[in-house]
Amino acid sequence: MFVIELRFEPFADTTISLAEKAINQYLEALRANGQILGREFAVAYNDGEFKVRLMMPEKTSLAHRHNSPWVKATLSGLTEAKLLAPREKFIGQDINSEVSNTEPASWQLLYTSYVHMCSPLRSGDNLLPIPLYQIPATFNGDHKRIIKWQSEWQACDELQMAAATKAEFAALDEISSVDSDMFRRGWDIRGRIEYLTQIPTYYYLYRVGGQSLQSELYRPCPKCGSAEWKLDSPLLDMFQFRCEPCRIISNLSWDHQ
Ligand SMILES: [Zn+2]
Repeated sequence: MFVIELRFEPFADTTISLAEKAINQYLEALRANGQILGREFAVAYNDGEFKVRLMMPEKTSLAHRHNSPWVKATLSGLTEAKLLAPREKFIGQDINSEVSNTEPASWQLLYTSYVHMCSPLRSGDNLLPIPLYQIPATFNGDHKRIIKWQSEWQACDELQMAAATKAEFAALDEISSVDSDMFRRGWDIRGRIEYLTQIPTYYYLYRVGGQSLQSELYRPCPKCGSAEWKLDSPLLDMFQFRCEPCRIISNLSWDHQ
């Protein structure tokens, strides 16, 4: 991932609140399209201009060709708020994050965790994140629905990893059960992506607990009940199960590895 600074300079009289509103809408639209990552953006006003530091999946994430209709509309909103088009200053590569996938993927998966900021769509060949703006818009012109699903999945993951509240169990159920809302929504998104990209796309189902290593190795697919989904060796060192018809991928229980 790459870090940049965006600068917004007024070209005529405006107010700070008008300018801030236009800038925030522009950032929200970029986020919904996967062009910038993260959730909170500190916009600072100093020396007659606004500055914000952003994380992007690729150096070219803000190129016009990636803009969604909403991003384009908010760019006009900047002009209406009397701000010049944003100027970009490259800061550097983020040393703590993963690089984006650049090779065509032979299969894909929807996979995230509470520590991952990058796209939840990953190449099945190398597990590298695929920037969402690289695929056709999934719903209503961009990828808002994926970003929202990802934020909620991560919130559940954080609650169950912390294991400090009663919400832990409900949260775990959301990310590990095929009867949950997170599964239903994520699995629909997966299907939409597969349809749009024509690349087989799987949903990652989290697995923890279980009686024993033996019982976990023979755990059937939770959706169709088939035992056929067990793989000879884990894919990407992580996924021991993959059900082709159900389009689900899963790990050997984290408690028995
Ligand atoms: Zn199945």
